[in-house]
Amino acid sequence: MSDRLNESDVFVPPIDRRAFTQKLRELLALDRPVGLLIADIQDFKRINHTFGLDVANQLLICIEKRLFGLSLKGAFVFRLDGNEFAIILPSLLDPSLLVLAANKVCKSFYEQLVVGDRHIQIGVRIGYSSNTLLNCGVEDMLRHAEILLDDAKAAGLSYVDYDESRLLQPHDWQLESELNQAIANNELVLFFQPKISLKRQGKIYLEALARWQHPERGMISPAVFIPLAEQSGAIKPLTKWAIHSALRSLTEWPGYVSIDHADHVDHYSVAVNLSVYALESEGFVDLVTAALNIWGVSPKNLTLEVTEGVFVNEASKAVQSLHELRALGVCISIDDFGTGYSCLSYFKNLPAGELKIDKSFVDHLTEDGDDRYLAQLMIDLGHRFNMSVVAEGIEDQATFTILQHMGCDYAQGFFRGKPMPQDVLLSWLKQHKKERSDDKN
Ligand code: C2E
Ligand code: MG
Ligand code: MG
Repeated sequence: MSDRLNESDVFVPPIDRRAFTQKLRELLALDRPVGLLIADIQDFKRINHTFGLDVANQLLICIEKRLFGLSLKGAFVFRLDGNEFAIILPSLLDPSLLVLAANKVCKSFYEQLVVGDRHIQIGVRIGYSSNTLLNCGVEDMLRHAEILLDDAKAAGLSYVDYDESRLLQPHDWQLESELNQAIANNELVLFFQPKISLKRQGKIYLEALARWQHPERGMISPAVFIPLAEQSGAIKPLTKWAIHSALRSLTEWPGYVSIDHADHVDHYSVAVNLSVYALESEGFVDLVTAALNIWGVSPKNLTLEVTEGVFVNEASKAVQSLHELRALGVCISIDDFGTGYSCLSYFKNLPAGELKIDKSFVDHLTEDGDDRYLAQLMIDLGHRFNMSVVAEGIEDQATFTILQHMGCDYAQGFFRGKPMPQDVLLSWLKQHKKERSDDKN
């Protein structure tokens, strides 16, 4: 079925949560496996602003037509929200098939939608669920699908793999409500981990990693509180805090030279990790510009690390912001490279200057020839695109040496430096400088 649309078509799919709930409830009452997909249209607000309401409405009709045309057996399609569609699969053989269905939906939008004489590319993220989990009703299915949709957004992916244990984890509402307060109370601190040059002795970059010093629970890992921050919206103030704190710390490191003389010294640069939510938020580029001005730091001394999934939709607001930041002179780094299941075509117009090989490829370099081959490919790929390549998670001398021989540019890992608080870092930097001058003499 063609979903090509003429501007005279005006039957905008109505938002109808009630009809959706009723249909899902009916199907669940039959007591057989039912699947639910939620498709979130990325950047729909921007499409609205760029093309106007009429085109956006017609685009919604195209999207609905395309979803109906997918030939997912017996599927029902409902519009749930401004930019969200639900697809109910009434005869699901196995929950693992939901991933295949999610993939099918995403792929169907690789082809542009045509409204009148306009060709519009849209990106879709999918969350999904089934009623096979214990006591799963309409609300639970929606909640599970929204959790996986949030996970996909946070990872910058179109969808994430099915993980039942993820859905059964109790949500820590208490911790979530404490997080905003913790940011305001300065309970978060930054630790710094060095990226050590394998080519130019003494050249060091530092990555800022957030920690939460909770008054009762002790030190809480970012793996716990970053997802909470993403769900609660606290990621925006958290990112602002991280950027300002990292830049302030940078100005305190020995040998740091202010912006007026920054061209003479390029020893230090600080990297801050970014969630896609922060990157998509209104005014993010202005926030970075203001922070650089306040702390008097040259943009070239700041790196922003994002995971590769962010780059997949070239038209997204996140990628646009990255291009603007790159134009300012800030370095963009692709974190955890190799784990994102993304296709490499995004390299063609990539605003990134650094590529970080994920720890999972580095862990077995000494004993696994295939991992060595993959790591070498990633190093060559990065260099082809004028990026400097960092290997993450190096824990021993043998791995460090292999990567040096492979032509990798930077090494990061517990072997040469664990993440450390600012005061420990200052001693570490002093010691490192001393070792360097001893080596020279
Ligand atoms: P990442 O950016 O990929 O950071 C690397 C993680 O690996 C860090 O965990 C680091 O402590 C750990 N690591 C480094 N070297 C080694 C090693 O040799 N062995 C082992 N086993 N681990 C190593 P950490 O600090 O727990 O951070 C986890 C993730 O949380 C980070 O992954 C980053 O994605 C996120 N994160 C941390 N701080 C922030 C932040 O301020 N904002 C955002 N949005 N995310 C953050
Ligand atoms: Mg990182
Ligand atoms: Mg990483």
